[in-house]
Amino acid sequence: AVVLGIESTCDETAAAVVRGRELLSNVVASSMNEHARYGGVIPEIASRAHAEAFVPVVSQALSDARMELADVDAIAVSAGPGLAGCLAVGVSGAKALAWAAGKPLYGINHVIGHIAVTQLQFGDFPEGTLALIVSGGHTSLLHVRDVARQVDVVGSTLDDAAGECFDKIARILGFPYPGGPHIDRHAQTGNPKAIRVPQGLTQGRAGAEHPYDFSFSGVKTAVARWVEEQEDAGRPVPIDDVCASLADSVASVLSRKALDACELYGSHSLIVGGGFSANSQLRAKLAQEGAERGVQVRIPEVKLCTDNGAMVAMLGSNLVQAGVRPSPAGFSIDSVMPLSKICM
Ligand code: ATP
Ligand code: MG
Ligand code: FE
Repeated sequence: AVVLGIESTCDETAAAVVRGRELLSNVVASSMNEHARYGGVIPEIASRAHAEAFVPVVSQALSDARMELADVDAIAVSAGPGLAGCLAVGVSGAKALAWAAGKPLYGINHVIGHIAVTQLQFGDFPEGTLALIVSGGHTSLLHVRDVARQVDVVGSTLDDAAGECFDKIARILGFPYPGGPHIDRHAQTGNPKAIRVPQGLTQGRAGAEHPYDFSFSGVKTAVARWVEEQEDAGRPVPIDDVCASLADSVASVLSRKALDACELYGSHSLIVGGGFSANSQLRAKLAQEGAERGVQVRIPEVKLCTDNGAMVAMLGSNLVQAGVRPSPAGFSIDSVMPLSKICM
Protein backbone atom coordinates (compact mmCIF):
# COMPACT_ATOMS: atom_id res chain seq x y z
CA ALA A 1 0.00 0.00 0.00
CA VAL A 2 1.07 3.59 -0.64
CA VAL A 3 0.84 5.65 2.56
CA LEU A 4 1.32 9.39 3.12
CA GLY A 5 2.63 10.12 6.64
CA ILE A 6 2.33 13.50 8.34
CA GLU A 7 4.20 14.59 11.49
CA SER A 8 3.66 17.71 13.66
CA THR A 9 4.11 16.67 17.31
CA CYS A 10 6.77 19.21 18.22
CA ASP A 11 8.97 21.49 16.11
CA GLU A 12 9.19 19.46 12.88
CA THR A 13 6.55 19.69 10.16
CA ALA A 14 7.23 16.61 8.09
CA ALA A 15 5.65 14.44 5.42
CA ALA A 16 6.74 11.31 3.58
CA VAL A 17 5.39 8.69 1.21
CA VAL A 18 6.13 4.98 1.53
CA ARG A 19 5.09 2.05 -0.64
CA GLY A 20 5.14 -1.07 1.52
CA ARG A 21 8.63 -0.96 3.08
CA GLU A 22 10.05 1.43 0.45
CA LEU A 23 10.59 5.14 1.09
CA LEU A 24 9.52 7.27 -1.89
CA SER A 25 9.95 10.75 -0.37
CA ASN A 26 10.78 12.37 2.96
CA VAL A 27 10.45 16.12 3.57
CA VAL A 28 11.21 17.80 6.90
CA ALA A 29 10.81 21.49 7.80
CA SER A 30 11.88 22.53 11.30
CA SER A 31 11.17 25.60 13.41
CA MET A 32 14.10 24.61 15.68
CA ASN A 33 16.08 27.79 15.02
CA GLU A 34 13.15 29.96 16.07
CA HIS A 35 13.20 28.34 19.52
CA ALA A 36 16.96 28.23 20.09
CA ARG A 37 17.21 31.55 21.92
CA TYR A 38 14.42 30.59 24.35
CA GLY A 39 16.19 27.41 25.47
CA GLY A 40 13.25 25.18 24.55
CA VAL A 41 10.34 24.78 22.15
CA ILE A 42 7.72 27.54 22.46
CA PRO A 43 4.37 25.87 21.65
CA GLU A 44 2.75 28.97 20.12
CA ILE A 45 5.68 29.53 17.78
CA ALA A 46 5.80 25.85 16.80
CA SER A 47 2.03 25.71 16.12
CA ARG A 48 2.21 28.77 13.90
CA ALA A 49 5.14 27.26 12.00
CA HIS A 50 3.12 24.08 11.38
CA ALA A 51 0.21 26.12 10.01
CA GLU A 52 2.61 27.80 7.58
CA ALA A 53 4.54 24.70 6.54
CA PHE A 54 1.75 22.09 6.33
CA VAL A 55 0.66 22.52 2.70
CA PRO A 56 4.13 23.21 1.25
CA VAL A 57 5.65 20.19 3.03
CA VAL A 58 2.85 17.76 2.12
CA SER A 59 2.78 18.87 -1.51
CA GLN A 60 6.58 18.56 -1.74
CA ALA A 61 6.44 15.03 -0.32
CA LEU A 62 3.81 14.04 -2.91
CA SER A 63 5.66 15.63 -5.80
CA ASP A 64 9.02 14.09 -4.75
CA ALA A 65 7.23 10.73 -4.84
CA ARG A 66 5.79 11.70 -8.28
CA MET A 67 2.27 11.30 -6.98
CA GLU A 68 -0.93 13.14 -6.37
CA LEU A 69 -3.12 12.73 -3.33
CA ALA A 70 -5.46 10.51 -5.38
CA ASP A 71 -2.60 7.98 -5.80
CA VAL A 72 -2.16 7.20 -2.09
CA ASP A 73 -4.08 4.35 -0.46
CA ALA A 74 -4.12 5.80 3.05
CA ILE A 75 -2.95 8.72 5.17
CA ALA A 76 -1.33 8.45 8.63
CA VAL A 77 -0.80 11.36 11.01
CA SER A 78 0.76 11.61 14.47
CA ALA A 79 -2.17 12.00 16.89
CA GLY A 80 0.12 12.06 19.95
CA PRO A 81 2.00 12.31 22.19
CA GLY A 82 3.18 15.87 21.74
CA LEU A 83 2.24 19.51 22.07
CA ALA A 84 -1.55 19.91 21.80
CA GLY A 85 -1.52 22.97 19.53
CA CYS A 86 1.03 21.36 17.23
CA LEU A 87 -0.86 18.07 17.03
CA ALA A 88 -4.09 19.95 16.28
CA VAL A 89 -2.59 21.54 13.16
CA GLY A 90 -1.33 18.24 11.72
CA VAL A 91 -4.43 16.22 12.61
CA SER A 92 -6.81 18.88 11.29
CA GLY A 93 -4.86 19.16 8.05
CA ALA A 94 -4.73 15.38 7.64
CA LYS A 95 -8.46 15.04 8.33
CA ALA A 96 -9.21 17.66 5.69
CA LEU A 97 -7.04 15.85 3.11
CA ALA A 98 -8.52 12.44 3.95
CA TRP A 99 -12.08 13.71 3.82
CA ALA A 100 -11.62 15.63 0.58
CA ALA A 101 -9.85 12.75 -1.18
CA GLY A 102 -11.92 9.95 0.36
CA LYS A 103 -8.90 8.20 1.91
CA PRO A 104 -8.73 6.16 5.13
CA LEU A 105 -6.93 8.02 7.92
CA TYR A 106 -4.90 6.59 10.81
CA GLY A 107 -4.14 8.74 13.87
CA ILE A 108 -0.97 7.00 15.03
CA ASN A 109 1.36 7.03 18.05
CA HIS A 110 4.48 9.06 17.17
CA VAL A 111 6.70 7.15 19.58
CA ILE A 112 5.81 3.77 18.08
CA GLY A 113 6.60 5.36 14.72
CA HIS A 114 10.18 5.88 15.95
CA ILE A 115 10.63 2.09 16.01
CA ALA A 116 8.55 1.28 12.90
CA VAL A 117 10.83 3.49 10.78
CA THR A 118 13.73 1.02 11.21
CA GLN A 119 11.88 -1.35 8.84
CA LEU A 120 12.82 0.93 5.94
CA GLN A 121 16.45 -0.04 6.49
CA PHE A 122 16.29 -3.48 8.06
CA GLY A 123 12.98 -5.00 6.95
CA ASP A 124 10.25 -6.51 9.13
CA PHE A 125 10.74 -7.02 12.86
CA PRO A 126 11.93 -10.40 14.09
CA GLU A 127 9.11 -12.00 16.09
CA GLY A 128 8.92 -10.80 19.70
CA THR A 129 11.83 -8.39 19.33
CA LEU A 130 12.84 -5.97 22.04
CA ALA A 131 12.91 -2.25 21.23
CA LEU A 132 14.61 0.69 22.93
CA ILE A 133 13.04 4.10 22.45
CA VAL A 134 15.22 7.04 23.41
CA SER A 135 14.03 10.52 22.54
CA GLY A 136 13.39 13.99 23.89
CA GLY A 137 10.28 12.86 25.76
CA HIS A 138 10.70 9.09 26.15
CA THR A 139 13.12 6.44 27.35
CA SER A 140 11.47 3.03 27.32
CA LEU A 141 12.11 -0.61 26.62
CA LEU A 142 9.34 -2.39 24.72
CA HIS A 143 8.54 -5.98 23.90
CA VAL A 144 7.07 -5.85 20.40
CA ARG A 145 4.49 -8.60 19.99
CA ASP A 146 2.96 -7.01 16.89
CA VAL A 147 3.78 -3.42 16.01
CA ALA A 148 0.31 -2.94 14.48
CA ARG A 149 -1.58 -4.30 17.48
CA GLN A 150 0.34 -4.81 20.71
CA VAL A 151 3.53 -3.65 22.35
CA ASP A 152 4.28 -4.17 26.05
CA VAL A 153 6.33 -1.79 28.15
CA VAL A 154 9.22 -3.63 29.86
CA GLY A 155 10.73 -0.55 31.52
CA SER A 156 10.70 3.24 31.36
CA THR A 157 12.42 6.23 32.83
CA LEU A 158 11.00 7.16 36.20
CA ASP A 159 11.88 10.83 35.66
CA ASP A 160 13.72 12.53 32.77
CA ALA A 161 14.18 11.09 29.27
CA ALA A 162 17.75 10.64 28.01
CA GLY A 163 17.41 13.49 25.47
CA GLU A 164 15.83 15.75 28.08
CA CYS A 165 18.74 15.03 30.46
CA PHE A 166 21.26 15.99 27.74
CA ASP A 167 19.30 19.11 26.79
CA LYS A 168 19.14 20.28 30.43
CA ILE A 169 22.86 19.77 31.01
CA ALA A 170 23.62 21.42 27.66
CA ARG A 171 21.80 24.48 28.89
CA ILE A 172 24.01 24.60 31.99
CA LEU A 173 27.07 24.32 29.74
CA GLY A 174 25.81 27.20 27.60
CA PHE A 175 24.82 25.33 24.40
CA PRO A 176 21.71 26.43 22.45
CA TYR A 177 18.58 24.24 22.30
CA PRO A 178 18.54 21.37 21.46
CA GLY A 179 21.81 20.67 23.20
CA GLY A 180 22.03 16.89 22.68
CA PRO A 181 24.01 17.10 19.41
CA HIS A 182 26.44 19.65 20.96
CA ILE A 183 27.20 17.30 23.85
CA ASP A 184 27.72 14.48 21.35
CA ARG A 185 30.27 16.55 19.40
CA HIS A 186 32.22 17.74 22.45
CA ALA A 187 32.21 14.24 23.94
CA GLN A 188 34.19 12.98 20.97
CA THR A 189 37.33 14.79 22.11
CA GLY A 190 36.85 14.42 25.88
CA ASN A 191 37.94 11.82 28.42
CA PRO A 192 34.94 9.66 29.42
CA LYS A 193 36.60 8.69 32.72
CA ALA A 194 37.48 12.27 33.77
CA ILE A 195 34.46 12.78 36.00
CA ARG A 196 32.42 10.26 37.94
CA VAL A 197 28.84 10.49 36.71
CA PRO A 198 26.40 8.25 38.60
CA GLN A 199 24.32 5.66 36.75
CA GLY A 200 20.76 5.72 38.01
CA LEU A 201 19.13 2.43 39.04
CA THR A 202 22.13 0.28 38.23
CA GLN A 203 20.70 -2.99 39.56
CA GLY A 204 19.87 -4.39 36.16
CA ARG A 205 19.05 -7.98 37.04
CA ALA A 206 15.83 -9.70 37.99
CA GLY A 207 14.90 -9.36 41.65
CA ALA A 208 15.52 -5.63 41.80
CA GLU A 209 12.43 -3.54 42.19
CA HIS A 210 12.68 -1.81 38.81
CA PRO A 211 15.17 -3.93 36.87
CA TYR A 212 14.50 -2.35 33.48
CA ASP A 213 13.54 1.16 34.51
CA PHE A 214 15.83 4.16 34.12
CA SER A 215 16.47 7.34 36.09
CA PHE A 216 18.35 10.34 34.71
CA SER A 217 17.44 13.19 37.03
CA GLY A 218 20.24 12.24 39.46
CA VAL A 219 22.72 12.34 36.57
CA LYS A 220 21.64 15.86 35.74
CA THR A 221 21.92 16.98 39.38
CA ALA A 222 25.36 15.42 39.82
CA VAL A 223 26.79 17.04 36.70
CA ALA A 224 25.22 20.41 37.52
CA ARG A 225 26.69 20.32 41.03
CA TRP A 226 30.15 19.32 39.79
CA VAL A 227 30.19 22.17 37.23
CA GLU A 228 29.06 24.62 39.90
CA GLU A 229 31.85 23.51 42.25
CA GLN A 230 34.46 24.13 39.56
CA GLU A 231 33.07 27.57 38.88
CA ASP A 232 32.91 28.44 42.60
CA ALA A 233 36.53 27.38 43.02
CA GLY A 234 37.55 29.50 40.03
CA ARG A 235 38.63 26.43 38.05
CA PRO A 236 37.93 26.24 34.30
CA VAL A 237 35.21 23.73 33.39
CA PRO A 238 36.62 21.03 31.09
CA ILE A 239 33.61 21.02 28.77
CA ASP A 240 34.76 18.13 26.57
CA ASP A 241 35.49 15.91 29.60
CA VAL A 242 32.12 16.71 31.18
CA CYS A 243 30.35 15.83 27.92
CA ALA A 244 32.36 12.63 27.42
CA SER A 245 31.76 11.44 31.00
CA LEU A 246 28.05 12.20 30.79
CA ALA A 247 27.66 10.50 27.42
CA ASP A 248 29.58 7.44 28.60
CA SER A 249 27.41 7.05 31.70
CA VAL A 250 24.10 7.42 29.86
CA ALA A 251 25.11 5.24 26.91
CA SER A 252 26.39 2.50 29.26
CA VAL A 253 23.24 2.19 31.31
CA LEU A 254 20.97 2.27 28.23
CA SER A 255 23.01 -0.37 26.44
CA ARG A 256 23.36 -2.69 29.42
CA LYS A 257 19.69 -2.68 30.40
CA ALA A 258 18.46 -3.01 26.83
CA LEU A 259 20.71 -6.03 26.24
CA ASP A 260 19.78 -7.55 29.63
CA ALA A 261 16.13 -7.25 28.62
CA CYS A 262 16.90 -8.99 25.29
CA GLU A 263 18.42 -11.85 27.25
CA LEU A 264 15.39 -12.10 29.56
CA TYR A 265 12.99 -12.21 26.59
CA GLY A 266 15.22 -14.44 24.48
CA SER A 267 15.41 -11.81 21.75
CA HIS A 268 18.39 -11.85 19.38
CA SER A 269 17.49 -8.42 18.01
CA LEU A 270 17.12 -4.93 19.43
CA ILE A 271 15.29 -2.17 17.54
CA VAL A 272 16.47 1.32 18.51
CA GLY A 273 14.65 4.55 17.69
CA GLY A 274 13.97 8.15 18.74
CA GLY A 275 16.02 11.33 18.45
CA PHE A 276 18.59 10.27 21.06
CA SER A 277 19.48 7.19 19.02
CA ALA A 278 21.37 9.65 16.80
CA ASN A 279 23.90 9.83 19.66
CA SER A 280 27.37 8.57 18.61
CA GLN A 281 28.34 7.23 22.02
CA LEU A 282 25.13 5.19 22.33
CA ARG A 283 25.51 3.87 18.78
CA ALA A 284 29.11 2.80 19.44
CA LYS A 285 28.29 1.19 22.79
CA LEU A 286 25.32 -0.78 21.40
CA ALA A 287 27.28 -1.91 18.34
CA GLN A 288 30.10 -3.25 20.51
CA GLU A 289 28.07 -4.78 23.33
CA GLY A 290 25.38 -6.10 20.98
CA ALA A 291 28.06 -7.96 19.01
CA GLU A 292 29.56 -9.36 22.22
CA ARG A 293 26.19 -10.61 23.42
CA GLY A 294 24.90 -11.98 20.13
CA VAL A 295 22.16 -9.39 19.65
CA GLN A 296 21.61 -7.76 16.25
CA VAL A 297 21.17 -4.04 16.95
CA ARG A 298 19.06 -2.16 14.40
CA ILE A 299 19.63 1.60 14.62
CA PRO A 300 18.53 3.61 11.59
CA GLU A 301 20.61 6.26 9.87
CA VAL A 302 20.64 9.55 11.76
CA LYS A 303 18.10 11.36 9.60
CA LEU A 304 15.51 8.68 10.39
CA CYS A 305 16.23 8.90 14.16
CA THR A 306 15.00 12.45 14.71
CA ASP A 307 11.39 13.41 13.97
CA ASN A 308 10.28 12.83 10.37
CA GLY A 309 7.31 11.81 8.24
CA ALA A 310 8.72 8.44 7.17
CA MET A 311 8.22 7.04 10.68
CA VAL A 312 4.54 7.98 10.56
CA ALA A 313 4.03 6.62 7.05
CA MET A 314 5.85 3.41 7.97
CA LEU A 315 3.67 2.72 11.00
CA GLY A 316 0.64 3.55 8.83
CA SER A 317 1.83 1.02 6.28
CA ASN A 318 2.01 -1.66 9.01
CA LEU A 319 -1.54 -0.84 10.12
CA VAL A 320 -2.92 -1.05 6.58
CA GLN A 321 -1.12 -4.34 5.99
CA ALA A 322 -2.42 -5.81 9.25
CA GLY A 323 -5.99 -4.84 8.36
CA VAL A 324 -6.43 -2.55 11.35
CA ARG A 325 -9.50 -0.35 10.93
CA PRO A 326 -8.85 3.34 10.24
CA SER A 327 -9.44 5.88 13.03
CA PRO A 328 -13.04 7.11 13.37
CA ALA A 329 -13.81 10.45 11.67
CA GLY A 330 -14.23 12.18 15.01
CA PHE A 331 -10.95 11.05 16.59
CA SER A 332 -9.11 13.56 18.71
CA ILE A 333 -5.49 14.32 19.51
CA ASP A 334 -3.90 12.79 22.62
CA SER A 335 -0.99 14.85 23.91
CA VAL A 336 -0.15 12.14 26.49
CA MET A 337 -0.90 9.13 24.27
CA PRO A 338 0.41 6.05 26.13
CA LEU A 339 2.77 3.56 24.45
CA SER A 340 0.08 0.88 24.79
CA LYS A 341 -2.07 2.80 22.29
CA ILE A 342 -0.72 2.39 18.75
CA CYS A 343 -3.59 3.97 16.83
CA MET A 344 -6.64 6.09 17.73
P1 ATP B 1 9.27 12.22 21.60
O1 ATP B 1 9.68 11.46 20.38
O2 ATP B 1 9.50 11.49 22.88
O3 ATP B 1 7.88 12.76 21.47
P2 ATP B 1 10.73 14.44 20.55
O4 ATP B 1 10.00 14.07 19.31
O5 ATP B 1 10.75 15.84 21.01
O6 ATP B 1 10.23 13.50 21.72
P3 ATP B 1 12.98 13.55 19.14
O7 ATP B 1 12.91 14.56 18.05
O8 ATP B 1 12.63 12.18 18.83
O9 ATP B 1 12.20 14.00 20.43
O10 ATP B 1 14.43 13.66 19.75
C1 ATP B 1 14.95 14.91 20.10
C2 ATP B 1 15.94 14.69 21.22
O11 ATP B 1 17.05 13.97 20.71
C3 ATP B 1 16.47 15.97 21.82
O12 ATP B 1 16.48 15.83 23.22
C4 ATP B 1 17.89 16.06 21.26
O13 ATP B 1 18.79 16.74 22.09
C5 ATP B 1 18.24 14.60 21.16
N1 ATP B 1 19.34 14.34 20.21
C6 ATP B 1 19.34 14.49 18.87
N2 ATP B 1 20.55 14.18 18.36
C7 ATP B 1 21.33 13.82 19.41
C8 ATP B 1 22.68 13.38 19.57
N3 ATP B 1 23.49 13.24 18.51
N4 ATP B 1 23.12 13.13 20.81
C9 ATP B 1 22.31 13.25 21.88
N5 ATP B 1 21.05 13.64 21.81
C10 ATP B 1 20.56 13.93 20.60
MG1 MG C 1 12.47 18.31 17.09
FE1 FE D 1 10.13 12.12 18.43
